[in-house]
Amino acid sequence: MHEASIAMSLIETVSELCLKEGYHSIESVRLKVGKAAGLLPDALVFAFDMAKAGTPASQAELIIEYIPIGGFCRECGTQFESEERYIFSCPECNSGAIKITRGNEMQIIDMEVN
Ligand SMILES: [Zn+2]
Repeated sequence: MHEASIAMSLIETVSELCLKEGYHSIESVRLKVGKAAGLLPDALVFAFDMAKAGTPASQAELIIEYIPIGGFCRECGTQFESEERYIFSCPECNSGAIKITRGNEMQIIDMEVN
């Protein structure tokens, strides 16, 4: 499962960060996930909860903020945003010459530590 390995490296990253800053435990982690990143938030939260035992993140809550896909059309210049997970053509002129600029990212926004 894709989400399991991502959750594990996420926990590794935040645990390291937490200990390096001199804290002992993580209360919560806020994560920004693009819709096009191909991650299911429920599966990610589940994997996170499975993997966190015995780490400084054992009590941590994973909060996911979903970022919609965004981009623009090279043909007509329309900027668009979509709640779909995939978008292949411009919603305005139907051209396939689109550039996706947002929605692929996965990034830690911040975390609360103790
Ligand atoms: Zn267009």
